[in-house]
Amino acid sequence: MASHAALVHYHEIGLKGHNKRTFERRLQENLAFALGWPDARRIRIVASRLVVPLEDEDPGAAIERLASVPGVAFVAEALVVSREPRAMEEAAVAAVSRAAADGARTFAIKARRSATDHPEPSVEIARRVGERVRRETGLGVDLTTPDVTCHIDVVHDQAFVYARKVQGPGGLPAGSAGRVVALLSAGIDSPVAAWRIIRRGAVVVGVHFSGRPHTDASSEEAVTEIGRVLERTGGLGRIYVVRFGDLQREISLAAPPDLRVLLYRRLMVRVAERIADEERAKALVTGESLGQVASQTLENIAAIDAVARRPVFRPLIGSDKQEIAAEARRIGTFEISTRPQTDCCTLFMPRTPETHARIEEVDAAESLLEVERMVSDAVSSMRWIDFASPVYRAPRAWPSSDDARSYR
Ligand code: ATP
Ligand code: MG
Repeated sequence: MASHAALVHYHEIGLKGHNKRTFERRLQENLAFALGWPDARRIRIVASRLVVPLEDEDPGAAIERLASVPGVAFVAEALVVSREPRAMEEAAVAAVSRAAADGARTFAIKARRSATDHPEPSVEIARRVGERVRRETGLGVDLTTPDVTCHIDVVHDQAFVYARKVQGPGGLPAGSAGRVVALLSAGIDSPVAAWRIIRRGAVVVGVHFSGRPHTDASSEEAVTEIGRVLERTGGLGRIYVVRFGDLQREISLAAPPDLRVLLYRRLMVRVAERIADEERAKALVTGESLGQVASQTLENIAAIDAVARRPVFRPLIGSDKQEIAAEARRIGTFEISTRPQTDCCTLFMPRTPETHARIEEVDAAESLLEVERMVSDAVSSMRWIDFASPVYRAPRAWPSSDDARSYR
């Protein structure tokens, strides 16, 4: 009797030596989360694969969800059969026939044995099964450039037979690398930066600065929607929303116009640091790319980082705008980011922002501000949105149950 399963393969966690078990468990939990399963143990870990039974699922939808989980190299829709020769053949005939219905004219069989005492050598399995498939489907054998490759993996006392693979994002399972605070505008770049760091195993806590009360709520709404997209990875825990308009106004009244943007950014970083303290996050993340706009010159980046106490990661620093936009489309945030919205940074904007600020100059301008009080104002007035994640726990000081400040 054949049963259906999704076979989830990974590349990189295989390299982790004795940590492999921990990584596999993390991925197992995150896959279960993606399917909304309360019990991750239904997913078996079998010789460096994760086997997800699909009996109660719509296979197409389940595979699409599994294939968007960080850490997944690819997902195959497999028939699971006994290693009895006829059973393998029949499963292969079924898999190749399906591909033929989609237009395949030639096929190849690739067989592999792992962790098994199965006596028949792989080449023999491939030859025998290939012969039967050729007879029953009428398709031609092509071992170099086949339209469809049917894999037969014999593992322990079972055989997994599959011809269709869906590519995953690769990377590492969210939650395998600790926590970071990402500065999330609702623009194109920072959601991509956050996604990339999630793909490297980090858990992201976002912080968004809106121009309210001097703007409408459109950027807050957009960043919430972006959060819903990132939530699907399992690696987004929460987004803090800071109403920044009054603080920007205060800066604009006290500081030279050309330094305003840098002072906004430095205040953002200080607030993000305060959040990171509470969240026990170990780094900050931004969406800057070198030279893209005035605030992203080397001098200005240095002036911003001067007030950070943690490493500031910029996953997009060497990427071009087109590449970033293409990635945003793939992730699913592009359309949200390009909707009309009011961005806080255009508030009180000077005509000619400084492009090569000297740190001493910025320090001097900032010394006229009550920076500590401004950070406290921001932190005590912020609210947050919690997202479903198998790896995030809210900090004790700011629990999810705080109805006055958290909203879903
Ligand atoms: P993005 O597309 O991410 O908005 P950008 O090209 O508009 O970036 P900047 O406006 O210079 O570039 O912002 C640089 C980075 O600073 C952003 O990628 C983001 O990490 C952070 N940032 C800017 N504005 C905000 C904001 N309103 N809230 C949170 N973070 C912000
Ligand atoms: Mg922006």
